[in-house]
Amino acid sequence: WKNAPPTLRDVFLNGMRFKDREFLVYEGDRATFDSFGRATLTLAHQLIADGVKKGDRVAVIMRNLPEWPVAFWAGQLVGAIVTPLNAWWTGAELEYGLADSGTKVAIVDDERLGRIAEFLGKLPDLQKVYVTRHAGPELPATVHRVEDVIGTVNSWSGLPELALPDVPLEPEDDATILYTSGTTGRPKGALGTHRNMTSNIGAGGISAARNFLRAGEPLPELDATKLPQRCTLLVVPMFHATGLSATIGPTLNSGGKLVLMRRWDAEPAMKLIQDEKVSSTGGVPTIAWQLIEHPARSKYDLSSLMAVTYGGAPSAPELVRRISETFPGSQPGNGWGMTETTATFTSHMGKDYENRPESAGPAAPVGEMQIRDPADGKTVLATNAVGELWVKGPQVVKLYWNKPEATAETFQDGWLRTGDLARIDEEGFLFIIDRAKDMLIRGGENIYCVEVENVLYDHPDVMDAAIVGIPHKTLGEEPGAVVHLKPGGTADEAELRQFVRERLAAFKVPVKVAFWPETLPRNANGKILKTELKKVFAEG
Ligand code: ATP
Ligand code: MG
Repeated sequence: WKNAPPTLRDVFLNGMRFKDREFLVYEGDRATFDSFGRATLTLAHQLIADGVKKGDRVAVIMRNLPEWPVAFWAGQLVGAIVTPLNAWWTGAELEYGLADSGTKVAIVDDERLGRIAEFLGKLPDLQKVYVTRHAGPELPATVHRVEDVIGTVNSWSGLPELALPDVPLEPEDDATILYTSGTTGRPKGALGTHRNMTSNIGAGGISAARNFLRAGEPLPELDATKLPQRCTLLVVPMFHATGLSATIGPTLNSGGKLVLMRRWDAEPAMKLIQDEKVSSTGGVPTIAWQLIEHPARSKYDLSSLMAVTYGGAPSAPELVRRISETFPGSQPGNGWGMTETTATFTSHMGKDYENRPESAGPAAPVGEMQIRDPADGKTVLATNAVGELWVKGPQVVKLYWNKPEATAETFQDGWLRTGDLARIDEEGFLFIIDRAKDMLIRGGENIYCVEVENVLYDHPDVMDAAIVGIPHKTLGEEPGAVVHLKPGGTADEAELRQFVRERLAAFKVPVKVAFWPETLPRNANGKILKTELKKVFAEG
């Protein structure tokens, strides 16, 4: 194949070329590509013995453990539609996810089992549950131990090497249901195919190569088994598209190592970067900020870092410069994408990004973008005009599972309506202005929250900032700022309002500033929970 492996099974087989190279590292657990392959094939054959057929849903619900990719890839090898659910969800939310997807087999960790135990009998489709890392001895009759099938991580190398299951797989077969973050409503399940998943590999690779090639030069053909191994520190959850893609392109497909953390924490992360010689990390902008601002950063050798990349949420232009200053050997990278585009759709790194710190980069070569008039959803607007972003490409999923109305609204004539306001410049670089739903209208004047947030981020005392609407009788809404200050920061409400007043039109200046004692609350994908923040102003 030219650009991307046709199915995820081909990606798995690519991974097997790296044999005894280290693949997964989590605390004291280490697995090579070979031992990961043995565990995955063993679990796949167990799923077949359990009666899992092509198209059946297999849910994976756990924190970022080495068992997560084993469960995901075992499901792929038997042709199941693998449904990762959000490990941050409550019991009721997990019940929604399991019922909505019609999951037949769920593979969960101990903490998640605790949350779903009470309603297990109530889900008619759910036939079997596997739990990993179960602490206590007793389990209900329908729950089985992952370890009884594949053993513990450090023993995977002793498993027999089973044959690939004999299940026909095509690029257009359904592979995943990935739930959106639920920032604007109830999470929607985006149904993705093998081609959706694998086309990111080709696209991502080409985008990255763009920085190292001159115009018109062909892409080099490389044998990844002969290149030095790269290492990713994964600090965003695998159950969202961004984290999941880290187990595909840079790792299984091209032989990179994946280091997992129990939970994000800046100092242990820096220790891991030093000890495992991590070459890239990131995910969401707040992680980059926390590394930059950490008081103990100089204690660690972070010189192995080659890239600090992120996307998924607005990032202050200031961040690019700070990364280049703080990690001189490393390139900053930024991208835009959605669950519905199977993660990254646009991206850029290094000089491209440094020269356009407000941009999320150009579309991967396989994707197309249009800016359309939000009023009619049809008229294509001119270069640099702000409107709603529509995208198309092999990485765009085809529908929302069980949601015909939302599907009809969002997926039209092969294009995806993103709900994001943006412009595209002469060179094809995308500039996200805001979510259409995150824009305030104050007495007829549009206020893009991101624009005001970016000004606040420029203030030396500000660590974290969000603009939310405060209801107003005649104006509709007014902007309010919720701010978390850096350690030692002393700016007060008057100073911050003055700072914005000097830089933006008067109607954009927050009418109130509330101070938040810690980093602003975010969902699992790093998005600020603005509905939580609005309560600060509602209460007075
Ligand atoms: P839901 O669709 O359930 O409301 P969500 O849109 O937050 O949740 P995701 O698919 O995880 O779910 O996020 C996609 C959204 O994230 C995009 O539509 C966009 O608003 C935002 N986003 C992604 N990348 C960027 C970026 N580089 N800059 C600004 N916003 C971004
Ligand atoms: Mg969305």
